[in-house]
Amino acid sequence: MELDLNLAKKKSGEYIHIENSVEIDNNLVKDFGVNFASKCELKIDYKYLAKEVSVRGQGSVYLTGNCFRCGNPFKKQHKFEFEEIFLPESSKVEEDDYTFNGTFINITKMIEDNLLTSLPHLFLCKDDCKGLCPQCFANLNTQTCACKPLINNAFACLNDLKFD
Ligand SMILES: [Zn+2]
Ligand SMILES: [Zn+2]
Repeated sequence: MELDLNLAKKKSGEYIHIENSVEIDNNLVKDFGVNFASKCELKIDYKYLAKEVSVRGQGSVYLTGNCFRCGNPFKKQHKFEFEEIFLPESSKVEEDDYTFNGTFINITKMIEDNLLTSLPHLFLCKDDCKGLCPQCFANLNTQTCACKPLINNAFACLNDLKFD
């Protein structure tokens, strides 16, 4: 995905707004156990000022996978924001600075980086997923079970002590 640098230079100091979508490689999210179920929709504002280009905006993409807690498949929208500076290739300071060279600014890598760092470590079908009963494996989102809660507390044995 590319931004027109000449247009930004012509309107130096003013934000230019564009909306577009970009296909993101599923391999990037393999380790998260999810897949992309849509292109990534982008709303971008960028401007050229003092030889730098600042790029900011929001992205939105649908993900599919299995809930970490209850195992049910889900498809959910993930939204993220980004704000980065692009430097001319010749002014690059750090190895991971974003740069441009020529008349277009390629922002795909920057979008991928921001998307990946915005992903949660664990994907749930919904934020308040109740998961499975650890004893009978009933899905507690849709069922109730008669299991007694396990006493999983090192101090529970103190209940049996008698104090005089
Ligand atoms: Zn769940
Ligand atoms: Zn149960």
